[in-house]
Amino acid sequence: MGKEISIVIPCYNEEENVPYIIDMVSEVFKEIDFEIILIDDGSTDGTWESIKSKIKDTNALIKAVRFSRNFGKESAIYAGLQKSEGKYTALIDADLQQNPKVALHMLNILKADEEYDMVVACQSKRKESKIIQKFKNGFYKFIDSISEIDFVKNASDFRVFNEKVRSSVLKMKEYHRFSKGLFSWVGFKTKFIEYDAEDRRCGETKWSFSGLFIYAVDGIVSFSIKPLKWSISCGFVCGLLSVVYMFFVLIQKLFFGIEVSGYATIVILLLALGGLQMVFTGIIGEYLSKIFIQSKDRPIYIEKEYIKNEKL
Ligand code: UDP
Ligand code: MG
Repeated sequence: MGKEISIVIPCYNEEENVPYIIDMVSEVFKEIDFEIILIDDGSTDGTWESIKSKIKDTNALIKAVRFSRNFGKESAIYAGLQKSEGKYTALIDADLQQNPKVALHMLNILKADEEYDMVVACQSKRKESKIIQKFKNGFYKFIDSISEIDFVKNASDFRVFNEKVRSSVLKMKEYHRFSKGLFSWVGFKTKFIEYDAEDRRCGETKWSFSGLFIYAVDGIVSFSIKPLKWSISCGFVCGLLSVVYMFFVLIQKLFFGIEVSGYATIVILLLALGGLQMVFTGIIGEYLSKIFIQSKDRPIYIEKEYIKNEKL
């Protein structure tokens, strides 16, 4: 109780990284009253054993939650926020790409200027393939333009925030969680700083291209209803075009006696309109499926085990 900072670390198949990140955090925050909250997001390797054995041989205060299966990083963050008791909370990845020294720097910014409620680290150089970078940049530009909240380019989940931000994000109990959007939606004064991401220490990134795509669609559907409105404008444009074309055909026939060759036109229009209708049905389906899942009101995660370093 009464900790200065809670450091939340989601771990999915990070058995080799766990001891290192705990040691690094403990070293960097040694002057501060901190607690580490590890969330084992249903790992299939020895992550849980690694956490348990590290808890035995460290003096740092550690709380560890084990999920019953893999619920995703967003659910792990939610669980971590629920368990934090610190005045401030930090989110750090387990793979050592995000240096805890930067987290300490962010904490100091918050402590120095009470005006700020959250500090977010933005990756200045991305160590990802060019295609993924292009996709991410395009996505954030797009979602920023169609949603009412701000999405800052290159902003990551690596952030430190105060109790007000933490409790506000926890109030949002939606099932499809898109943390960058949720943290932005709650408002509060945020400072953005640049940082260089390090290389992943061990293991591989958990994100595939298709995984990122699904995550992007989730983000759009959660933070904008504009795609639904586009179908109305599109319908009007198509209707208008059909009237213009009708007059064009009529004039050709009545005044110039030109017969309209129908087959190709009909096939093209049929395919174009059929495609468009299916795209919009799909978009409506995306929103509908989110309502369907949310209406079941299922828990965001299920806890299998919870352990705490009892030595302190
Ligand atoms: N992670 C998680 N659950 C998942 C996928 C990832 O808790 O289903 C954790 C992972 O262990 C890591 C962090 O989220 O600590 C970031 O994952 P990763 O390094 O794969 O993402 P990237 O850095 O490549 O964006
Ligand atoms: Mg990573």
